[in-house]
Amino acid sequence: MTPGSAVLKLPDALLYFSDLSSLAHDPRDEMPGHPEAPPRLVAIERRLEAEGWLGWERRPAPAARTDELELVHTHRHVAAIRELSEAGGGAIDVETYDGPDSYRAAAHAAGGAAAMARALLAGEARAGFCAVRPPGHHAEPERAMGFCLFDSVAVAAAVAVAELGTSRILILDWDVHHGNGTEAIFRERDDVLLITIQQELIWPGTGVAGNVGTGAGEGFTINLPVPEGSGRDVFLSLIDRVVAPVAGEFAPELILISAGYDAHAEDPLAGLALHTEDFGQMAVEVRELAGRLGVPVGAVLEGGYAPSALADSVAATMRGLGGAGESVSAPETAVAAAAAERVARFWPAAV
Ligand SMILES: [Zn+2]
Repeated sequence: MTPGSAVLKLPDALLYFSDLSSLAHDPRDEMPGHPEAPPRLVAIERRLEAEGWLGWERRPAPAARTDELELVHTHRHVAAIRELSEAGGGAIDVETYDGPDSYRAAAHAAGGAAAMARALLAGEARAGFCAVRPPGHHAEPERAMGFCLFDSVAVAAAVAVAELGTSRILILDWDVHHGNGTEAIFRERDDVLLITIQQELIWPGTGVAGNVGTGAGEGFTINLPVPEGSGRDVFLSLIDRVVAPVAGEFAPELILISAGYDAHAEDPLAGLALHTEDFGQMAVEVRELAGRLGVPVGAVLEGGYAPSALADSVAATMRGLGGAGESVSAPETAVAAAAAERVARFWPAAV
């Protein structure tokens, strides 16, 4: 299929994936006050349940198999996380916890993302949302960090390529932090294109614009650092000036979103200024992009540490992905103009 031909008729179904194991992983057992805790997911599901799950079909998030996890992580890493859980758990670093139930939760998180990718590529739905914990995008091939044990969105993309014969996956990471794990996993590959938007100069300190991938993957990592205080205009302009043209040229068969909500103005961990409705609008723009390309889109929950804002923003995302709301014309911003000029070296359609 060529970009823009949009010959596929996408199905109407919308799929929501979750598993109770997500509630059993609780870093507060060893780290009191830890922000990445079960109340995040409780808030999301209370909101969705009160609104009839927005009409989405609920499906279980199955555990990923070891060989699926090892598509993106080393055998040693997967074994180490499992063995620490089995031994009763403990801290991996000052903020990353692997408790007795954490291996199971992380395996279901990755497996849920993979199940979503399978269902979307099988033509069962046009959009999916995977509401799981712990988050994943900081987990590197052999390192758990930043609350993350296994990189769920990366497992989903790798399963799509290795098992389902997909040759082009686009991952858009809009979490406020750099998706360093996903970048490390795919930086040498040209079948998974990562576009990651993050607040510049905050933890983990990576994700500078000059990191574009290496070897065959050169040009297939796009880092879009944005200044503190950036909000709706910057994000919508980056989708319009970078994400959409690059996606049109790359022609992905599936779009995955690393859907973090810590770029929300109310989030305690960072300094960006998105509001609930802005996440909804970003979802609309990605839905419209996916529709033009004739491909499905699936989101995997990452960060977001203000539970009420998180719940509202997830619901707004699901509404947007599901068909509510209309595309708006994006504003011009200097951040997006500079980014478009930069990526045009690899993706001429961006300018
Ligand atoms: Zn984050």
